[in-house]
Amino acid sequence: MNKVFILDKNYLSYLLRQIRKKMSLVAPLRSENEDIVLKTVENIHEIELNYPASIPSIKEFLFPQKEDMFRFSDGTVDILKDNTKRLIFGVRSCDISAITLLDRFFGENFIDDYYMSRRKNTIFISLVCNNPDTTCFCLRLGTGPFLKSNFDIQLTDLGDRYIVETASEQGLNLIKDHAHLFSKVRKSDYEDQYEIILSSRSKFEKRINLENARQKILSGRISDRFWDWVAKRCFECGGCVYECPLCTCFNVLDRTESEDKGHRFRIWDACMFKGFTKMAGNVYPSENKGARIKQWYFHKLIYYPDHFGKFGCVGCGRCTITCPGHIDMASIVDKIDIGDRRRR
Ligand code: SF4
Ligand code: SF4
Repeated sequence: MNKVFILDKNYLSYLLRQIRKKMSLVAPLRSENEDIVLKTVENIHEIELNYPASIPSIKEFLFPQKEDMFRFSDGTVDILKDNTKRLIFGVRSCDISAITLLDRFFGENFIDDYYMSRRKNTIFISLVCNNPDTTCFCLRLGTGPFLKSNFDIQLTDLGDRYIVETASEQGLNLIKDHAHLFSKVRKSDYEDQYEIILSSRSKFEKRINLENARQKILSGRISDRFWDWVAKRCFECGGCVYECPLCTCFNVLDRTESEDKGHRFRIWDACMFKGFTKMAGNVYPSENKGARIKQWYFHKLIYYPDHFGKFGCVGCGRCTITCPGHIDMASIVDKIDIGDRRRR
């Protein structure tokens, strides 16, 4: 069962300073071009909590864009793993929901030691979204703005204080280590939290239904012509794949410095690229752009629910913000669902 406490806002920066003495602290910071990015914190006062979703997503801290896997030299192999202890502060609920799914992807059946090593050394403090962005639709998927489980520590901003919930042993231990900063929760705190959550829920603008879209696709009513039509606006930049917290394709490459010396690394790949799954002899199994876009949506709307019982989308809205061709989960699902209703 979750344990609940109160943290006076005046104690937050002290708490983060104490934590930073023991581990690396990552939090949202404003970049030079005004984007919100998750970065290692040098100055705690620069942490930016008034933002919808960071660009890029949180996945790069568990599954980096480029990651060295091992080095080999003179017959010996040196496995490279990142064991840095990290606390990631100020993450949104949708990203925590994405991590719950990534844990299953990288941790079930085939265990990915590189991901798992980072995962077990990372603790998250997430923040309920009081003001969701116009691009967000986590509410429709149950992946935010407020979670009941699967987080380490979740904060709800009540103005002058946070209501602090823990749902993991790691989270509870962190609070116990700084117990003098936390106080007991009162009935009025729960009432204030309830008001905030109701208010946040009422601010969501998108009313899309992924299950309707899934059913329409499964019924065979969405033809390949639809995907070819969507593909006309795709620039093949890969932005949607790179920013999506649930896209996990990667390529593995070797670089040699001499006959018996070199290293192996993995690097994100994107099913939106023509070269994705390119084979020897210059064969491109994914040559058709419409087929590639169809594959991306099928992966999230069909395969993910079939294998994990959840959509491969947490409604973070990053694809909406990123895509220069205005192709994104919300608008495509809307076109499949509403467009299909109009066609009937
Ligand atoms: S972000 Fe848009 S333009 Fe870029 S690959 Fe994805 S769908 Fe295509
Ligand atoms: S498909 Fe788009 S909205 Fe859904 S999780 Fe990925 S980036 Fe976010």
